[in-house]
Amino acid sequence: MDFELTEEQRQIRATVADFGEREIKPHAPRWDREELFPRAVVQKIGKLGFLGVAFPEQYGGGGADTLSQVIVVEGLARYDAGIALSCAAHMSLSSGHIATFAAEEHRTRYLPDMLAGRKLGAWCLTEPGSGSDAAAMITRAVRSGDDFTLNGSKMFITNGSVADVYVVMALTDAGAGRSGVSAFIVERGSAGLGNGRKIEKLGLHSSDTAEVIFENVEVPARNLIGEPGAGYRQTLQVLEAGRIGIAGWAIGIARGAMEDAAGYAKERRQFGQAIADFQAIQWMLADMATRIEASWMLTCRAAALKDRGLAFGRAASMAKLFASETAMWSTIKAVQIHGGYGYVTELPVERYMRDAKLSEIGEGTSEVQRLIIAKSLLRDGYSAE
Ligand SMILES: Cc1cc2nc3c(=O)[nH]c(=O)nc-3n(C[C@H](O)[C@H](O)[C@H](O)COP(=O)(O)OP(=O)(O)OC[C@H]3O[C@@H](n4cnc5c(N)ncnc54)[C@H](O)[C@@H]3O)c2cc1C
Repeated sequence: MDFELTEEQRQIRATVADFGEREIKPHAPRWDREELFPRAVVQKIGKLGFLGVAFPEQYGGGGADTLSQVIVVEGLARYDAGIALSCAAHMSLSSGHIATFAAEEHRTRYLPDMLAGRKLGAWCLTEPGSGSDAAAMITRAVRSGDDFTLNGSKMFITNGSVADVYVVMALTDAGAGRSGVSAFIVERGSAGLGNGRKIEKLGLHSSDTAEVIFENVEVPARNLIGEPGAGYRQTLQVLEAGRIGIAGWAIGIARGAMEDAAGYAKERRQFGQAIADFQAIQWMLADMATRIEASWMLTCRAAALKDRGLAFGRAASMAKLFASETAMWSTIKAVQIHGGYGYVTELPVERYMRDAKLSEIGEGTSEVQRLIIAKSLLRDGYSAE
């Protein structure tokens, strides 16, 4: 087992950190305050090759491994979790779905622009009435000649009002349950494709989240991804891979909280000494560092299993579960270490806490991760190989 990053991975980490310091950190408070999605910055991230880092070179990707993509998402989330979430959804969900399951014609048509950041993707599964139980969706795709007609609405979609390419799950056979779900590519500008009201959120203000509405949207039958009825199986695999990225995303937030809290603790003086001298503060920092390191190890393991072509679903759920709870715990403790200054918007630490909460909800809640882990444990037994 190798715990060292490769030279290439170190370079990616350093380049993302440099970009984050210069292009994100100074502006993140304003994007949060003004609820602004900085599309030009995401385009720059694409131009630098970060959005395609782990995709095949033939479509303009970097051909690197899964951990390299995690390093990108972690490094962006360290500075702005909203931008990082928009990039993670674009990479792992929409681009990932197309790269893994779409026909060659679709890959060559969409991926080069998506990986370069010229086109943004959104992945539409959740509906107003169906979240954890995604197969209970009611959006329909009815075939008529060479087209499918889509009707329904999708909820909480990242990049939902700004995307160019939508991967949409819809029922082609309403009576068939999970086997009736199919996946489609829908392009921006399609007649009948629109957005509902603006969704106001607790955090992640620099990430666009929208309701996406389909009113008699005609989609050519060739835009079906894979076979009719394969959409749900595809979705489960896309989410498994996505969870490795979300684990990295949560680690980035937790690391930001820890670094800011450690810096503040060394500066802030009470009772004639730096608060970092108090054991109560040191223990919180020690626990943050330990949980972050453990999250990273779980994430590396899931990424390594995936790249070796082995089953990685349980490992990805463990990484996502542990990293999410680490992010939430660490950001709450970071606010505590900052005292009153942690509670006000002058410093970014309260933003980290608001942003972190989504990690326990998106791409499968913590309860759903525990269900997946327990189901696998009870079916296959435990092995730490
Ligand atoms: C900012 C943001 C961005 C998002 N981006 C996207 C996106 O890009 N694409 C997309 O498709 N979706 C997206 N989502 C949706 C997200 O994936 C869902 O919110 C999430 O899967 C949970 O679904 P739900 O909100 O319907 O909650 P519900 O499923 O209604 O869950 C409510 C509560 O019940 C619990 N629960 C549900 N079932 C069980 C069970 N069997 N056992 C125990 N507890 C259970 C849950 O854990 C939770 O605590 C996003 C959401 C947000 C907030």
